[in-house]
Amino acid sequence: MNTNDILSLSYEISRIYRSIDRKTNRLQKVASLRCPDGCGACCKTQQIEATVLEAIPIAEAIFERGEEISVMETVEAQVSQNDFSCVLFRPDASRADCGCCTYYAYRPLLCRLFGFASRRNRLNELEFSPCKHMTVVSPDGVQRARIGVSAGLRLPVYQETFMRIAALNPNIGFRRRPINLAIKEALEYLYWRQPRGFKTAKAV
Ligand code: SF4
Ligand code: SF4
Repeated sequence: MNTNDILSLSYEISRIYRSIDRKTNRLQKVASLRCPDGCGACCKTQQIEATVLEAIPIAEAIFERGEEISVMETVEAQVSQNDFSCVLFRPDASRADCGCCTYYAYRPLLCRLFGFASRRNRLNELEFSPCKHMTVVSPDGVQRARIGVSAGLRLPVYQETFMRIAALNPNIGFRRRPINLAIKEALEYLYWRQPRGFKTAKAV
């Protein structure tokens, strides 16, 4: 795979990410439903997974900012301590469960859809799939979103979007691993494929 192939791959992933954002933004507007200001509860869990392919835009952005060595070192330090919390999360020391994603515009699929996806129920109908936190802090907004989705407002379905992205490069598109390892492997993937002077495309 040459530089142009990687740029075009990253462009295609980012195009799918943008289309997800358009749909979730619409739902947020229609249902007046947003994550509480500063909430980062989902980023603090130890269970977030991504594929290497989904992490390509993040890896590109990390190279662009020149932070690849510090990110790799942090991943390795955390792995040695069995700490799987995302290395890109910057916690807010003054508020529990709050903080921000330092690469928000480039975040992978699960981060993008968590709390704003739909799923198919047993009747194969789409229903809104909110995060637990949202159902507690914004029950009315969640209810409006449920009504909107059951009335036909389209929201991405995780598994379907996952397959769409994975099909872009099945070699690195199907295997999910803890997010830090996905980021590390995406950095390695780009490192071995980018010639000197490689310039990244704006991911999102
Ligand atoms: S998806 Fe849920 S846990 Fe994550 S930031 Fe939004 S409200 Fe918080
Ligand atoms: S990539 Fe960003 S949004 Fe996803 S878990 Fe890490 S800090 Fe959170």
